[in-house]
Amino acid sequence: MTFKSRQAIRLSDGRELIYFNEEAQTHRAEYPDTRHLPPPPPTSQLRYDPLVDEWVAVAAHRQTRTFLPPSDACPLCPSSPAFASEIPAPDYDVVVFENQFPSFSDRVKPDEVTAITDMVPVRAGVGRCEVICFTSDHNGSFGKLPPSRVRTVIDVLADRTAEMSALTGVAQVFPFENRGVEIGVTLHHPHGQIYAYPTVPPRTQQMLRAAGRYNSRTGRDLYTDVLAAERASGARVVAANEHWTAYVPAASRWPYEVQLAPHRKVPDIPALSDEERDAFGPLYLDVLRRFDALFGKPMPYISAWHQAVVGEGRELGYLHLQLFSIRRAADKLKFLAGSESAMGAFVNDVVPEKAAETLRSL
Ligand SMILES: [Zn+2]
Repeated sequence: MTFKSRQAIRLSDGRELIYFNEEAQTHRAEYPDTRHLPPPPPTSQLRYDPLVDEWVAVAAHRQTRTFLPPSDACPLCPSSPAFASEIPAPDYDVVVFENQFPSFSDRVKPDEVTAITDMVPVRAGVGRCEVICFTSDHNGSFGKLPPSRVRTVIDVLADRTAEMSALTGVAQVFPFENRGVEIGVTLHHPHGQIYAYPTVPPRTQQMLRAAGRYNSRTGRDLYTDVLAAERASGARVVAANEHWTAYVPAASRWPYEVQLAPHRKVPDIPALSDEERDAFGPLYLDVLRRFDALFGKPMPYISAWHQAVVGEGRELGYLHLQLFSIRRAADKLKFLAGSESAMGAFVNDVVPEKAAETLRSL
């Protein structure tokens, strides 16, 4: 399955919403947003921290965002006669809309920001933040989606990545899903987000430096060689099919972490072939099932698509999905405390080979 039609509308405050319909004859654009929303808040600013050479987004308006509403007031369910949600139509397959509380948007003008001090330059938080709803089923989860819907989601992410990569000033497009209140999720309805960053995030910068150094030294591609070594060893491979391998990184930072990588190097989701897109869902759903089986209850997780940057260094990017959980035991979470939070030095309590062995056995 994929989407057969794509219908864009404007919500009452001007934000864009796009329905991706699996049936060509479905029409959802005729349902207007009946709410009278105030204009979206001014967007964030980015402040430069000279001590660590990083940009930090400051978005005070996000403090007021919707926090765990009751299910009859869920902003991600389709609208009903009793409640007008973010999605005006009475049903949907996959829908994407601009976040009401964005960390980045195109509403601020670059000349509206001024430096904090001579040492701390500021720039506008120009970019875009979207919400993606995978299903209209409030009580569903990504892991319960049929493979055909996962394929539709991949095609939607390809559409959004291509469109957001083309926006002025966008440096990297990052689709992700936070799942579970333990991770800090503020809405129970299954959903993900897509960030279009105006700067290359610190983690990507670090990965680009590593890949660039390796390439200068060997003439080869770093992620390609890491993946080949993992596939040859097999000790940390959890599952695989013809086009993808899921493995626990040898130096994973989290108690349970799996990376899913296509066997062919591609920069981003739009570059995946038809066969690769079809093959992703069955493997990913299998890994999610194993995650939930680990402790016999829904696993809180972060699922993060690492895509190539838009500009300089694009050729060094290798698309892969990083899935990890902070749950280290049935009743224990890993918190980022002193060493991790202050120093960025991770201590993992679960041996990666053991994590892979356990995940394989489920
Ligand atoms: Zn809902």
